[in-house]
Amino acid sequence: MFSGGLDSILAVKLMQEQNVEVQAVNFSIDFCACIMQDGENVATKAAKALDVPIRVVDITEEYISVLKNPSHGYGANINPCIDCKIFMLKKAKEMMAEFGASFIITGEVLGERPMSQRLDALNIITRDSGLKGFLLRPLSAKLLEPTVPEKDGAVDRERLLAISGRSRKPQFTLAEQYGIKQYPNPAGGCLLTDPGFTKRVKDLIQHNELSPQNLKFLTVGRHFRISSAAKLAVGRDQDENEALQEMAGKTDIMFKLKDYQGPLAVLRGGGDENTIALAAGVAAYHTKFRNEPLLNVYYWQAGSADKKTISVKPATIEDVERLRL
Ligand code: SF4
Repeated sequence: MFSGGLDSILAVKLMQEQNVEVQAVNFSIDFCACIMQDGENVATKAAKALDVPIRVVDITEEYISVLKNPSHGYGANINPCIDCKIFMLKKAKEMMAEFGASFIITGEVLGERPMSQRLDALNIITRDSGLKGFLLRPLSAKLLEPTVPEKDGAVDRERLLAISGRSRKPQFTLAEQYGIKQYPNPAGGCLLTDPGFTKRVKDLIQHNELSPQNLKFLTVGRHFRISSAAKLAVGRDQDENEALQEMAGKTDIMFKLKDYQGPLAVLRGGGDENTIALAAGVAAYHTKFRNEPLLNVYYWQAGSADKKTISVKPATIEDVERLRL
């Protein structure tokens, strides 16, 4: 199971050294935006460098239920790491027959992460994924119970490692030995560990709006809860304005200043005139013209060319702070 991060790269290297044939599988989640680097999936790029075939599987839709109700709870933020690993490993297990795989390897390191890599958590993950005996963690294997491939000699346990703890020095030293120079930042991976993103996801859960589309929407712009049914996203720069434009669904309402340059804002969830006026006011606040008494704001349904105009007083800083997610 291959993320493309250094630990998973090293796990593959350790297997290749023992002439074990490896098939990489990467599970991608749409709203975790940081899996791309130079326009290419990080895992695909790393697998190419290792010369192993890779299958990338999008699990966004199914992942929603893991995120909503993880039986092992969340980490420091809204990261359901233990359930997440179990879910992915179960998926990997289902694919073993197709690839003729006899066991699964991961780059997990004992004690590296507070929630999902404690010994008890590793054991729960092994048990609940149904992979007892068939889940090998080459970087920490010597500190863990021997697996079936180690016992039957398919893998030489003596040539596996005993890395543990949060320091990544041993991995960096190994990377140097193997001549591995490119790998993504270890902390860069998952938006679910980000406190700001967590606040926004909790708001979606609270309003029963958790869906792949709404989660992806959270990755762009500033976000505001305008009403119990409606949320507004305001682009922070040209790239975000374009991304919001692309993400907007048919029923979303777009806002833009009529007489001046300004950001694009998208209202999702609709609403009455008051909701439109409040959203337009918040959009108007995020311009250089927020001190004007009134601003004309265009608004229109995404995909429609029929623009209407509303004149609004830009929202106050107090309102903006109250509504901000
Ligand atoms: S950090 Fe994110 S991707 Fe990694 S195990 Fe936790 S929830 Fe899953």
